[in-house]
Amino acid sequence: MMHRWLVCAILFALGAGSATAFARRTHTAGSASAAQPAATPQPPKTYHLQRHPVVALTFDDLPAAGSLPPGDNRVRILTTLTEELKAHHLKGVYGFVNAVSLPGDQDAQQALRIWLAAGMNIGSHTWDHPSLTDNTAAFFEHDIALNEPLLAQFAGNRDWHWFRFPYLEEGDTLAKRNDVRAWLQSHGYRVAQVTLNFDDDSWNDPYARCMARHDTAAIAWLKQSYLENAAEFLRVGREEELTAFGHEVPNVLLLHGTAFTTLMLPDLLKILHQQGFRFASLPKVESNPIYFQNVNAALKNGGSLPNQYLDSRNLPYPPLTEEPYDKLHNLCR
Ligand SMILES: [Zn+2]
Repeated sequence: MMHRWLVCAILFALGAGSATAFARRTHTAGSASAAQPAATPQPPKTYHLQRHPVVALTFDDLPAAGSLPPGDNRVRILTTLTEELKAHHLKGVYGFVNAVSLPGDQDAQQALRIWLAAGMNIGSHTWDHPSLTDNTAAFFEHDIALNEPLLAQFAGNRDWHWFRFPYLEEGDTLAKRNDVRAWLQSHGYRVAQVTLNFDDDSWNDPYARCMARHDTAAIAWLKQSYLENAAEFLRVGREEELTAFGHEVPNVLLLHGTAFTTLMLPDLLKILHQQGFRFASLPKVESNPIYFQNVNAALKNGGSLPNQYLDSRNLPYPPLTEEPYDKLHNLCR
């Protein structure tokens, strides 16, 4: 897998405005320091998946996720996303905001107003997307607090106290992890955990480059590979739950509010329907008891909730086909 630092370096090289969540299958020896002794790996012999899994969609890095293709803007992106969601009767979907994008950017401000006016919700993704692994708990908590005035201003009387960790990193030491968890709890937040993640945002910046080049063949490959990758990791995420928890759980899917997502969301929703998924709100999904458990492990690289259990308990991952990161990185350069 591509290391998170490489992704960050690429994003900075591209001048991308906001960093993106990148955390999965971080099964790195020595990265976990679980409080419990390692469990004996016991994956299911066969993975029997439910006919009708449940999922809440969530969108990170609002209101300015990823690079913009030439001529595009944030109002167009969030208008399109909300229309696509509403066409599937999806309301109250959470978008996690880095408010650093808002001051002085009329386009971003109007985009976020459109998201809220369409009946969607917002939560916090920190002010400017720092890594908890690379910063102290105090710095990180200050960064969350910085985000609050603009969240409160935009959300009005609606609750914005759901929190998504950048890069899904919840602390590389137990002291740091426990400090931030306690801070979030004392400030009224709940953590918006993730169970399904296919690194959707890795397709956006190649898409912006290929649009600038009018490379229709490359864009066709991006669309096809995105959907293949989504289908693969929807399966993988559910199979990880069988190993991590012994059963599937109501899901939270991590997506990003990018230009490429506006192109792909209708087909992604079709895949979810074909796989029997039923949609639920984030608060409803996270009322399941699994979301009140504490993995109680320090993980340098973070990850989805099942990833955190697999990594900290040394449990095996299901067989999977990796994302085509090299091709995505080199496309349309
Ligand atoms: Zn993010």
